Amino acid sequence: MKFGQTIYLDYNATTPVDPRVIESIQPWFFEKPGNAASRSHAMGWMAEEAVEQARAQTAAAIGAKPGEIVFTSGATEAVNLAIKGIGARYARKGRHFVIVATEHQAVLDTCTYLAKHGFEVTVVDVNAEGHIDIEELAAAIREDTVLVSVMMANNETGVIHPVEKIGDLCAERNTLFFCDATQAAGKVPIDVESMGIHLLALSAHKVYGPKGVGALYVRQSAPRVQLTPLFHGGGHEGDMRSGTLNVPAIVGLGCALEITAAERDRENKRLAGMRDRLEAGLREHLEGVYVNGDTENRLPHVTNLRFLHVQGDTLMTRMGSSVAVSSGSACASALAEPSHVLLSMGLSEREARSSIRFSLGRFTEPDEIEEVIRLVVREVEALRDVSPVWEMYKAGMLD
Ligand SMILES: *Cc1c(COP(=O)(O)O)cnc(C)c1O
Repeated sequence: MKFGQTIYLDYNATTPVDPRVIESIQPWFFEKPGNAASRSHAMGWMAEEAVEQARAQTAAAIGAKPGEIVFTSGATEAVNLAIKGIGARYARKGRHFVIVATEHQAVLDTCTYLAKHGFEVTVVDVNAEGHIDIEELAAAIREDTVLVSVMMANNETGVIHPVEKIGDLCAERNTLFFCDATQAAGKVPIDVESMGIHLLALSAHKVYGPKGVGALYVRQSAPRVQLTPLFHGGGHEGDMRSGTLNVPAIVGLGCALEITAAERDRENKRLAGMRDRLEAGLREHLEGVYVNGDTENRLPHVTNLRFLHVQGDTLMTRMGSSVAVSSGSACASALAEPSHVLLSMGLSEREARSSIRFSLGRFTEPDEIEEVIRLVVREVEALRDVSPVWEMYKAGMLD
């Protein structure tokens, strides 16, 4: 489905809100205006009931109990609450964090902040496929490590990390495991119990829900994880996140997660089929097209492609009004810096800048993929036709 004149293949940046989700949200703006914390009247009770239903839906999506869900303004807040909240709460046990180089900016920047405030952070590298070495991760964990943060699936490459193994390792080493599952939610079956996850972040606007709402899972038993809150004022959400609940958005998050779970298997197959067709179609017509990252353990709807000796920015600008894609995360593209994820996988700056992420989603249709193949092939050929670098490469003067 086109959005205006544009084929939207940037679902990892954000998703359109599913019309069914919009419908679920609608009544909570006007007809049902209650504050979920109002205990004295039916409007309040109704809002509270709706929030509790969404809490149960959110918990069900990740194998948690409803009482373990804290609603936030999104994954960035959930990440901040998890990392800073654990840092402050467990500072007496230790002040050391272990993270991975390919984590989202929300994790990296939060840890950079803590590193300036008396904490230590060890960053574990990834290999060319975007994977961590579990031995290396184990070696990074110390006596005073309080939290290990590894995302479930990478937003730029779709690479899925072996979360169960990481959970086992953290349990063995008596440290907490935080998992940013913002991109995995709705795509990968998530079970916080069997995965050994203590804290998990997700966001509605990556699963066809509204922007500005998300959740943090905080394990409440075996072990009971405690957090120092970021916000004070009223003690909402088990005193972990004060502030009047955004009832419409929370209802939308619950509804979005339920729909996504119900449709996941069929949708994953459909998406993987189109994604594979996109890769095959481009490689059939163009030489020098490479997939960045592991092609086995990855999300079904993402491909991060490198076009040899093509500037990704230029290519995207030329296609900008007809195809929406990105060079990586939305935050990184605002900085116009090459992707830290691709650099950490060993790509050179030039190679990283030749890479484009295509992320498909619920409203992507096969004929759009055919059109994108035609457009990309045309534009890459046009750029290479006038490129001295490409000419040198073809003459065997460059790799
Ligand atoms: C989008 C994203 C975030 C940030 O989520 P917001 O809800 O936009 O704050 C965090 N982590 C990952 C992996 C993401 O893809």
